[in-house]
Amino acid sequence: MGGFRWLTPATGYVSGYSHTLNPYVGCSFGCSYCYVRRLPVAMFRGEPWGTWAEPKKGDPASLRDELAKAKRKGPVAVFFSSATDPYQPLEAKLKLSRSLLEAMADDPPDFVLLQTRSPLVERDADMLRRLSGRVRVSMTVESDREDVRRQLTPSAPPFAARLRAVRRLREEGVETQIAVSPLLPHSPDFAGLLAEFAPRVVVDDFFRGDGSGGKRSRSLRMPEAYSAAGWSEWYAPQAADAFVRELGKHYPPEAIGFSVSGFAPRD
Ligand code: SF4
Repeated sequence: MGGFRWLTPATGYVSGYSHTLNPYVGCSFGCSYCYVRRLPVAMFRGEPWGTWAEPKKGDPASLRDELAKAKRKGPVAVFFSSATDPYQPLEAKLKLSRSLLEAMADDPPDFVLLQTRSPLVERDADMLRRLSGRVRVSMTVESDREDVRRQLTPSAPPFAARLRAVRRLREEGVETQIAVSPLLPHSPDFAGLLAEFAPRVVVDDFFRGDGSGGKRSRSLRMPEAYSAAGWSEWYAPQAADAFVRELGKHYPPEAIGFSVSGFAPRD
């Protein structure tokens, strides 16, 4: 397994985390706005982003040693995952992310943000409970409009299924939040709806959240996609600002996060 590592030192958007953990390479969800599309892993593959995903070829048990070593050097906060979704459709059979969670549950890092948009995460509620106090499940729900999902992220699970999964995890005692990231066109009831499902929300948009002041989103031709769908008025930072104000009617200020600071590990 010479040189293989599960944990990668964190940089850029995930500042505040010491490591990222990506069990898969590629991603079957293929979101149109995904920044990974512009990274070498996607550019040099020769197959369109969203059509392939494969497990990394490492022994999940070796994460235990990596964690022990990292913990000797300082606090360990893991962003799980930054360049894929840890709950790929393949995960249902492979249980790779589950094995990695198990390794972490045996010797917990200081904090793990489990970032996913798949209801499959609910399967691992038992393991997440073992990590209780050290893990937060962050479920991406960027809108409540299925027509918007079908247009921009057609291969990702329906929003209602994600909301149900996050509520059930919460009921099972798992710490949860909803990541409205990036905020997409939505109904006027979206903020209030979220309050029924998760105790914390973090919001991001194509301008503050892409790490380049909106340049990456432009290179992915998001303004054109919005314009073609007749949504141009939504393509503005003011949309997220208004949404955060709307959330303020349903959540206390400390339960609303925004962009990079909103995703930061809990102290
Ligand atoms: S789920 Fe995440 S990693 Fe996968 S395509 Fe969508 S944004 Fe990219």
